[in-house]
Amino acid sequence: MRFATIIRADDHSEAIKQKIMTTLVEGGWEYDEHRPDFVISIGGDGTMLQAFQQYNYQLHHVKFIAVHTGSLGFYTDWTVEELDDLLTAMLAKHYTTVGFPVLEIMMDGGCGACSYLALNELTISDPAKTLKIDVKIDGEHFETFRGTGLCISTPSGSTGYNKSLGGAVIHPRVEAFQMTEIASINNKVYRTIGSPLVFYKKQYIDLDIQYSNSVTVTYDHLVHDCLAVATIRCRLHRHKAQFARFKKRPFWERVNNSFIE
Ligand code: NAD
Repeated sequence: MRFATIIRADDHSEAIKQKIMTTLVEGGWEYDEHRPDFVISIGGDGTMLQAFQQYNYQLHHVKFIAVHTGSLGFYTDWTVEELDDLLTAMLAKHYTTVGFPVLEIMMDGGCGACSYLALNELTISDPAKTLKIDVKIDGEHFETFRGTGLCISTPSGSTGYNKSLGGAVIHPRVEAFQMTEIASINNKVYRTIGSPLVFYKKQYIDLDIQYSNSVTVTYDHLVHDCLAVATIRCRLHRHKAQFARFKKRPFWERVNNSFIE
């Protein structure tokens, strides 16, 4: 088996990486950062997003494993105390896989066309001026949004920024994506639905930016570096992000542990 690691830049994560490397290599695994079977992220949810962004062109075969070296995260299943159990299970290949839907983002505008994938979400916002965005669903005009911005999230991203915006928490087995508003202006001139919208897997939405001086587009933890974005199409990607599961950690238990108890 081949594996690669993505770590948060701190001494603790580096020490955990060394332990994982030594154990797996002694167990006959090979470190291969170009074509790994497993990508192990060591750090927090942000480290897992980094791992996803680095390896999302290999989604058809790569499996992610996330170890946390700080406070409990959403993607990060394994604590440092459980590391020996994880390594034993990895060497024994005792795992199942679970797939999380991924958002596909296609942009067009002043910088030409480009596309991205997101594990959590896409956001379009302008904190200084109001944005005006025509929202189309499956090619049909739905509403004209005016306000700070929009967030389009995956089910696994629904507990991230989306949740802070009042979006629904969606189980990652549901093949859907969601749009939530960031401070919409609702008055006699501009009117939007005002509630989060959930789209099923064959649908797509087009966001036509009517005007903004300084739109900021983010995908996961990254910022798209061109201000002249004109249209953005979002839909679910054909591949899911596969996570190797070596123990049960039901989604609603995760939600409960992270937000309630
Ligand atoms: P990070 O590890 O510092 O993450 C920031 C926080 O978001 C952490 O508490 C992390 O556990 C949590 N988080 C990330 N993804 C999550 C998910 N899917 N479900 C539940 N919690 C999640 O790393 P970062 O690079 O800052 O993370 C970027 C993410 O931060 C974005 O993708 C976005 O979801 C989130 N974010 C949230 C807000 C907000 O809630 N107001 C604002 C900006 C970004």
